[in-house]
Amino acid sequence: WGSFTEKGGAYDWSSEEEEPVARAEPVQVLVVKDDHSFELDEAALSRILLSEAVRDREVVAISVAGAFRKGKSFLMDFMLRYMYNLGSEEWLGVPDEPLTGFSWRGGSERETTGIQIWNEVFLVDKPDSRKVAVLLMDTQGTFDSQSTLRDSATVFALSTMISSMQVYNISQNVQEDDLQHLQLFTEYGRLAMEETFLKPFQSMIFLVRDWSFPYEFPYGQDGGMRFLEKRLKISENQHEELQNVRKHIHSCFTNISCFLLPHPGLKVATNPNFDGRLKEIDGEFIRNLKVLVPWLLSPQNLDVKEINGNNITCRGLVEYFKAYIKIYQG
Ligand code: GDP
Ligand code: MG
Repeated sequence: WGSFTEKGGAYDWSSEEEEPVARAEPVQVLVVKDDHSFELDEAALSRILLSEAVRDREVVAISVAGAFRKGKSFLMDFMLRYMYNLGSEEWLGVPDEPLTGFSWRGGSERETTGIQIWNEVFLVDKPDSRKVAVLLMDTQGTFDSQSTLRDSATVFALSTMISSMQVYNISQNVQEDDLQHLQLFTEYGRLAMEETFLKPFQSMIFLVRDWSFPYEFPYGQDGGMRFLEKRLKISENQHEELQNVRKHIHSCFTNISCFLLPHPGLKVATNPNFDGRLKEIDGEFIRNLKVLVPWLLSPQNLDVKEINGNNITCRGLVEYFKAYIKIYQG
């Protein structure tokens, strides 16, 4: 592993091997069941966040959220590569290596709605020499019917409440219904927090996939910011509803930003045998990935999770997670 990271997660001491083998994998900690009830796997959450190496460290919790089949897990796997090779210029790996980590795949069938976390928490030295624990979360929503929209709203709200950075993964453009969903989701979150906590959420990043108007707004963060400013602008002649969505979003997050990512190419999008190797991904996508991932995860850019103005440790995060889920279980 990279010299900057230590492992704080689960180990599998295999007896066949001479070296201990770490079984690094995603663990489903929150499941939305068919009857729309929520189940938190407290034991799994505790195994990961209460391990001795990390439990008293301040936590940076990074979540990626949005609808199915829009490349969230694919992106998470590159985030994992970055974390495992922190400090290396070559973190992206070699052209022929299949991509592994969070499960990602083609096809259009449903997956479990809920939250998965990577069972290794990364310990990272910030430039001010503080050591923080970095937790990666992959979330899934359906957004396809009224009943599942409510489930998705809860998943989105919970992941926003427990993360310090929420990456809202959307396809092609920021549509009015993406903003309406965001309003609904954050309203869910705010309702739950209102009684006890005053602070709004931390960072929200609109990640637009398959952006196809680079001549209007160029790929990357600057183009993204200009594009988003235009999208989130409030004007007098707008319908009141549109104004309210925008005001609400502005009032919820301390930081709002946007990144425009190009299409990764037809092999990624359509070939059922594609296994994630770099040589089959469009160069333009890779160039932008090399900007996006360090922008999200480089040590100086990692923000510790705050609730009510207090920095939260891994141990604290477990407690908040348990408290928040109780609210939704009613
Ligand atoms: P998730 O359900 O959002 O986690 O989506 P996955 O990461 O499992 O990816 C679903 C499918 O989309 C896979 O076939 C990926 O190869 C493909 N994919 C990944 N990233 C992108 C992207 O940026 N654009 C497009 N069009 N497809 C992508
Ligand atoms: Mg996924």
